[in-house]
Amino acid sequence: MPQVIVLGAGILGLAGAYHILSQRPNLNLVVIDRLPGPGRGNTARSAAAYRDLFSSPLNRALSQGAIAFYEKTQQEGTALGLQRLGYLWLLSSEQVQKNQTVLDSLTAAGINCELLEPSRLARLLPGLKLGDIAGGLWGRNCGILNPNLLCRFYAARVREKGGEFIYNAAVTGFITDSRGHISGVKVENRVIAAETVVVATGAWMGATLKLAGLEAPVMPRKRQLFAVAAGAGALNRLLHTPGFNAHGLLPLTILPGGAYLRPAPGAFIMGYANPDQPPGLEDNPKADEEFFLKRLRPLVAPYFPAFRETTPQYAWAGHYADHPADSLPFVDWLGGALVVGGASGSGIMKADSLGRIVAGLYCGQDRVELGQGRPFRVQDLALSGRDLAPEGLII
Ligand SMILES: Cc1cc2nc3c(=O)[nH]c(=O)nc-3n(C[C@H](O)[C@H](O)[C@H](O)COP(=O)(O)OP(=O)(O)OC[C@H]3O[C@@H](n4cnc5c(N)ncnc54)[C@H](O)[C@@H]3O)c2cc1C
Repeated sequence: MPQVIVLGAGILGLAGAYHILSQRPNLNLVVIDRLPGPGRGNTARSAAAYRDLFSSPLNRALSQGAIAFYEKTQQEGTALGLQRLGYLWLLSSEQVQKNQTVLDSLTAAGINCELLEPSRLARLLPGLKLGDIAGGLWGRNCGILNPNLLCRFYAARVREKGGEFIYNAAVTGFITDSRGHISGVKVENRVIAAETVVVATGAWMGATLKLAGLEAPVMPRKRQLFAVAAGAGALNRLLHTPGFNAHGLLPLTILPGGAYLRPAPGAFIMGYANPDQPPGLEDNPKADEEFFLKRLRPLVAPYFPAFRETTPQYAWAGHYADHPADSLPFVDWLGGALVVGGASGSGIMKADSLGRIVAGLYCGQDRVELGQGRPFRVQDLALSGRDLAPEGLII
């Protein structure tokens, strides 16, 4: 019988499994997923960008810790596709005024960022039509990574530490002990009992915990991404904008209406977290080209006219898993299981920190050390009794 079952081989389950095994090397731990390999759920559908530009000190601590760990891992020789391209948050004058306190707080918190004047933006980005843009928040300690490489890194380390994986195994129910606490899972006709079950099923957490008669504090919401080829003309010049980073690429760029451009090899990945998207989980979510043409492109083309006639080469969709109480993640005990989730659109950039907190809670610790060396109170991500400052910088 395994001592720990981690249900879900997405980035949060993998980081949790890795840090539990790092603290308890001889533990018998099994990761279970219904898909055929690690990180094939929403982790694979992500834009996989990272930033430390957060107004919430908690968000900052989580992302800075994870970024520090990913950078160290890559420097030590494991390629994670990490590219520090920076974030460029283009803001209208109304947004600059509304967010002045947040902008001041970033500098006060030591975030490596700067507000670029329109004249400087015009020099750096000849293809940009400034319109109502009054400034560009340039975050230097931000970028993109490859979520597949990150998942493979954690999965390999879990195996090295003796952890096992069961793939193609859908959990269809739970077993409980005499106190009604979750004490194992049902996979088809098999029952696998364990001392502890960690539930890391992301956007499916509601459906998963319902099997145990529990309500999950997670609201799934569909999100779509569209890849537009850069070709050889103006879009290619925009993609290869010099002056922002060592890669000679455009930073991840967010426009005043909320649409964003994420550089990729020979292409832009374009997204827009539509606030009108109703919550809900789709079985096999697909991106809708109409959404690109009618909602996303009209937010981009007025600023970057080179996108005026573009259509996506390919597109995909997934789900954010939002924690409705405050849109910040949680790590806690629920029905006897250890649950981790609610990471919304920033689970990859916080995964290593959340994994450490999962391990800390499992091991009964009050505090854990995050990747940047900062202590973090495990209780701060509990489901109840928390009063966390809401995030002001949401894409
Ligand atoms: C379009 C989009 C863009 C995003 N962009 C970013 C970004 O730029 N930066 C960032 O940090 N984050 C981003 N995110 C968010 C990020 O992808 C998530 O926060 C993160 O992947 C969540 O990881 P997870 O492990 O909780 O979930 P998942 O990766 O979805 O893993 C959950 C796993 O549970 C398994 N599972 C579920 N139910 C069962 C069951 N009954 N039995 C067995 N297995 C089960 C699934 O198969 C899945 O593998 C984005 C998300 C989307 C959709």
